[in-house]
Amino acid sequence: MFNRRHIMSLLGLAGAAGVVANKPAAAAERATGNTANELIEALATVPVLDVHSHGFPALAPVTEEIFLETLALSAWMLDAYFPAEPGQDKTVYEQWRAADPDERKRLDRKYGIQKRFDEVVEQMRSTTFVEALTKEMAVFLRCKPTLKDVIAARNEYTSGNYWRYVNDMFGDAQLEGALVQGSLGAWTLPEPKQEDFKKALKMKVYDVVTAGAWRFLDEDIPVADLVSKYRAQLKKLTKEDGGVAIKSGIVKLSGADVEPVTPSQGEQAWEQWRKLSKADKQRIYDRTWRPAFWKTLQDFLLWETCAVAYELDIPLHIHAGNGEGQDKISTHYPYKLENVVRYPVEFPQKPVQIVLLHAGFPHHAEAAYMSHIFPNVWYDMSIMAPFVNRGLYQRLLETFETAPLSKVMYGSDAYHVPEFFYLGAKWAKKHVAKAMAVLVDDGVLTKDDAVRYAKMILADNARRLHKLPAR
Ligand SMILES: [Zn+2]
Repeated sequence: MFNRRHIMSLLGLAGAAGVVANKPAAAAERATGNTANELIEALATVPVLDVHSHGFPALAPVTEEIFLETLALSAWMLDAYFPAEPGQDKTVYEQWRAADPDERKRLDRKYGIQKRFDEVVEQMRSTTFVEALTKEMAVFLRCKPTLKDVIAARNEYTSGNYWRYVNDMFGDAQLEGALVQGSLGAWTLPEPKQEDFKKALKMKVYDVVTAGAWRFLDEDIPVADLVSKYRAQLKKLTKEDGGVAIKSGIVKLSGADVEPVTPSQGEQAWEQWRKLSKADKQRIYDRTWRPAFWKTLQDFLLWETCAVAYELDIPLHIHAGNGEGQDKISTHYPYKLENVVRYPVEFPQKPVQIVLLHAGFPHHAEAAYMSHIFPNVWYDMSIMAPFVNRGLYQRLLETFETAPLSKVMYGSDAYHVPEFFYLGAKWAKKHVAKAMAVLVDDGVLTKDDAVRYAKMILADNARRLHKLPAR
């Protein structure tokens, strides 16, 4: 926490309670404000490199409701609440979204989808994230700070040329580039091709390769072929096609508590998976069935991924912390990933460079501590920035208590809409400056140190880890 009492304790005044003691505390707050403003100014033209994000389609024009649904992580469950009817490919929710008004009414009478949708949208509307987003976007769009006005101004700006809006916004945030792990569709729009997404943007887009042998999981092949095909694919997508990192979502698929797997256990798990019917495989993909052999197979493939990452000396990004409603979020704690960072668990270990994504949010202190004790662990703040807005600097201060500043990286986990990239970059810059200002005022850093470390966090660390050229 960072409040008046905290400032007093920094000043050695924690015991000096009462009216008199408020005076120096207030002075310290003003000084912090001044230092923060100076640092914010010093960082104004500093470039930002986003270490974790996703591509998005041109979503315009939008209504307030569609925009809110597109932002809301709680909306990711709507397909699970309204799954496909027997024999149908599309979920009932997808059908409802694409339906004409009469068909919608019919589906609503049967399933009550509108009610659930309104719940998701109205809850999202009342988050401080959306309130803060509205005020920040109103400044960029030069409109009144209400969501209604922001959406109207957005629709006007995007009419005719969506990507002009995006590029203007990214330019304003000094975004020099982003590491992008695939793309996500939004509302009824499909995922854009990464190539098209790249072409539309002025900022540099670096590919992050998705781990997991997804392309081969439905092939009727022996385990040795699965492994060799998967390894070859990872090598091609990185060394030949330019992917700068590999990203694993194992935490979401089967949990962070990855265990050592012997070759025969891996083979057995593959054989159990291989003989499943299409319908049973789908239950596992939908995460409505979580058999033990699926976890073993995922663990087995993750160790293969680590082997390739080590051999190619390419960082492995791992989802940690947060998740959506269909995940088993109680298995997402960063500490549960300790086996992975100790690859291959038994000695001698092979240090794969591991990036703990999302700061393990809301367990950012665990992720920070792991980056302290393991030289090969890096810390990414995506999703914490921009979801945590007003108090982001407080979490960063807690992070800086243990995490080496040479391994803390800015990321947004932007998805669906470009505003995520913008807010993440703007707020990260502001809050890194605010956190650094506290350390300057406390005598831990000089202002020059603070600027140097801020630059490292905002871009240099990610560039160094992924061997990217300077802008
Ligand atoms: Zn992500």
